[in-house]
Amino acid sequence: MPLSLSRQARVIVQSEIRAMSIACEKIGGINLAQGVCDMDAPRPIRQGAQDGIDRGVNSYTRFDGLRELRRVIARKVRDYNGLEAHPDTDIIVSAGATGAFYCACLALLDPGDEVVLFEPYYGYHVNTLRAVGAIPTYVRLRAPDWTFTREDIERTITPRTKAIVVNTPANPSGKVFSAAELEEIAEVSHRYDLFIFTDEIYEHFVYDGRVHVSPGSLATAGERTITISGFSKVLSITGWRIGYSVSRARWAEMIGYMNDLVYVCAPALLQYGVAAGLQALGPDFYSRLRADYEKKRDRMCQALYRAGLPPHIPQGAYYVLADVSRLPGETSKQRAMYLLSQARVAGVPGDAFFHGSGGTDLIRFCFAKTDEELEEACQRLERMG
Ligand code: PLP
Repeated sequence: MPLSLSRQARVIVQSEIRAMSIACEKIGGINLAQGVCDMDAPRPIRQGAQDGIDRGVNSYTRFDGLRELRRVIARKVRDYNGLEAHPDTDIIVSAGATGAFYCACLALLDPGDEVVLFEPYYGYHVNTLRAVGAIPTYVRLRAPDWTFTREDIERTITPRTKAIVVNTPANPSGKVFSAAELEEIAEVSHRYDLFIFTDEIYEHFVYDGRVHVSPGSLATAGERTITISGFSKVLSITGWRIGYSVSRARWAEMIGYMNDLVYVCAPALLQYGVAAGLQALGPDFYSRLRADYEKKRDRMCQALYRAGLPPHIPQGAYYVLADVSRLPGETSKQRAMYLLSQARVAGVPGDAFFHGSGGTDLIRFCFAKTDEELEEACQRLERMG
């Protein structure tokens, strides 16, 4: 047999985000394609990691993470998410939310299982499902408010459906699922006996007084929900790779074994830094974060209006989808490349968030930038108007 890639590898699509970032770098543009936050990590977190170095935190931690960090997470999910989780049995610290989702999929899905996603989706969810041999199926959210009905979900469910993925607040739409919508999802999941995988990495980024609701906190969903989050975004430490999942012990145990198998543990020193530093951040930190990002969102949306690229105002997260139908080009990639060449600002072509046709008229911009860089990007876009 000739040498070849695995069957799974052949269905994994390379990220459009990376392609746009490379094109952007070539011309010295401003990269609003990638979802990295350019802000400094909070001082107590940095100090925590420095203390960890001095104290010689160099070894593997337990497969499910440092006890101190699991305790901090248990407190946080109780107070912020309304989840009761035991730090010794229900929480697995992973290499980012990405690692947590991958390990949950390895532990709970079989090849051929179908998993429902809301579209526009986050590409890693699709590719991770494919990597474990699962089959994504799609509920397309209706613009401009990204709504859906119970029937939309039920239509996608077959006897092979095993789970639903909920990303709230969502990348790329910025949708914050309401309690009523989540109740609907929980009821459907209960009725068809499905897992709910949630990705709540943007849980602190909610605007206009909205409240983040964790699906796992709903009475009908607790048993079947794998709650996934992490510290990449809220602490601006995307490269530290510290995330976690919370679920009932009977699921968490195997998610933990998978975590052990894939990377043994999340980076020990950085777990230490987060555990030590997080306790020093009070409610002020989170309210300032919201206010700062809401301001960035408003500035970005204002610039898009002025550029003649009307935005879908995001309710949360830190991305905005803009209507770019007035730009020349037949595909969203052509439009994104046109924008890059004219304004020297990179965004992600909308079709990266849809299967089949969809997203042709959309580009996603990330506004998690320093105020200076965001202002420069906004002015460049406004000159297009
Ligand atoms: N989930 C979503 C929806 C994201 O947008 C991202 C990053 O862009 C991640 C997860 C990655 O999280 P982490 O850095 O914790 O792996």
